[in-house]
Amino acid sequence: MATSVHYVELTPQDFRQRLAEAPIAYLPLGTLEWHGEHLPLGSDGLQSGGFFVELAKRVGGVVLPMLFLGPDRHELDGSAYWVSNELFGHIVEAILERLARAGFKIVVAHGHGPSGHFFEDHIATWSKQFGLELYTCWRPRSEEADGLGIMTDHAAANETSLMMALHPDLVHLDRLSSDPAVWPVAVSGRDPRTEASAERGRRAIDLQAERMASILREALARRSA
Ligand SMILES: [Zn+2]
Repeated sequence: MATSVHYVELTPQDFRQRLAEAPIAYLPLGTLEWHGEHLPLGSDGLQSGGFFVELAKRVGGVVLPMLFLGPDRHELDGSAYWVSNELFGHIVEAILERLARAGFKIVVAHGHGPSGHFFEDHIATWSKQFGLELYTCWRPRSEEADGLGIMTDHAAANETSLMMALHPDLVHLDRLSSDPAVWPVAVSGRDPRTEASAERGRRAIDLQAERMASILREALARRSA
């Protein structure tokens, strides 16, 4: 039987095997954060973690538990994740140091926008500091505009579509006003009521998983060359 891709489910033997096959760790950057009345508070980690599971099945590697602390402060009902940029940086550095020690060579981090962009801004510094190859899953902004990126808005059509594809049972569009003139509180992007669908989420996941898979396969090939 194929081993799990979840770090928390591996025995040492499973871990050694997965590490030997592909020394990649995936870090879902989550939050516990208001995502509109229609999505669960853990949406960021559920989307990035779900995407990483699909990527790990294609390329190999191990998916870490979600990191639910992150920068930028929004404190609507249920939000409990904010830490300063400085503390967030220390936490990620500690994680990267431990992952390098455990034998990983590549770390992919993605999820909550401000966390992912913070990570991206530190790739040059941290890759040198920890001897790791580091990636996020952002694409150029011009490409993100097609709505088929991974987590490119806040609780709007993109995130809602991804949640509908990965966790349809956790999405409750009926909790938003059916009056198109009433914009849902703290939803930022295209209207999830009219533009979100599981099919759109699935298309984004497949497209981005294929794109990231080829980037990571090349990275693995360079390492073994
Ligand atoms: Zn989000």
